[in-house]
Amino acid sequence: MSAKLLDGKAVAARVRAEVAQRAAQFAARHGRRPGLAVVQVGEDPASSVYVRNKRRSSLEAGIESFAHDLPANASEPEILAVVHALNRDDRVDGILVQLPLPKGVNADRVMDAVDPLKDVDGFHPVNTGLLAQKRPRLRPCTPFGVIRLAQEYGIALTGLRATVVGASNIVGRPMALELLLARATVTVCHTGTRDLRAEVERAEVLVAAVGKAGFIPGEWVRPGAAVFDVGINRAPAGNLVGDVEFESAAARAGWITPVPGGLGPMTIAMLLSNAVDAANFRAAAKSSA
Ligand code: NAD
Repeated sequence: MSAKLLDGKAVAARVRAEVAQRAAQFAARHGRRPGLAVVQVGEDPASSVYVRNKRRSSLEAGIESFAHDLPANASEPEILAVVHALNRDDRVDGILVQLPLPKGVNADRVMDAVDPLKDVDGFHPVNTGLLAQKRPRLRPCTPFGVIRLAQEYGIALTGLRATVVGASNIVGRPMALELLLARATVTVCHTGTRDLRAEVERAEVLVAAVGKAGFIPGEWVRPGAAVFDVGINRAPAGNLVGDVEFESAAARAGWITPVPGGLGPMTIAMLLSNAVDAANFRAAAKSSA
């Protein structure tokens, strides 16, 4: 392996330590800790692991955690009622609705109901719009984690050719907006892309967010590229792997994130950072009202 490993676990620990400091400052100033509510509907096993991690990490960072677990058969109006109550609750600075929601529930309607000032996932159209207009407020956690990781390793994104593979609302699209904000020259690939290999081969920065184990062969990776692998896939042997073939990509890349231990821990760290930001934004909005 010639690539330098982008150690998301280590950087996430640093981000979490900063968050703990900022959360303590907030508590000293406002007489309460920042609050993060996590809403889970049903018991999808992967979601349960994520939700447990998020709640535990919140508490460790000095953020109050509010758990709202609804049964899998909760109706859309019931879920919306919980979101509306959390919007009104002054102890709650951040609201996270764990995706996926059960079939039959319109996830867009639920996400749109979250107060944009409490939208710590950064998925509300207002926050996506602000990012698109280069005035980011609450930024989607995984793409924000990529940018922070690049900064920590001194990867200057300005002017680089960046290719994002995947165009979902929660990863690919906001990732493209973040890279544009960082002044990279951005290409976004998706199922309609004609020659994916050519697009990947050009990339000085490659972000993979497809959701298919080892989907991008290492031999497509441009020598010296920075590779950010967002994918989290269960391999046939039961272990977790990314969207990029790790060994062969690491032999060519300049930098690469491991899976696990790359963007997974960064995503949670940026979520906690967003929760403290949301608390501070709300406090500032109140004092200027
Ligand atoms: P998604 O299924 O919503 O989107 C996948 C995207 O990949 C789509 O835009 C699709 O067009 C594109 N795609 C699929 N097949 C393709 C092909 N053959 N060629 C080109 N593009 C293709 O997935 P998502 O929610 O964006 O998640 C992607 C991956 O990232 C998943 O593995 C998910 O588990 C992981 N993820 C990780 C974190 C984290 O914390 N690290 C956070 C969110 C998602």
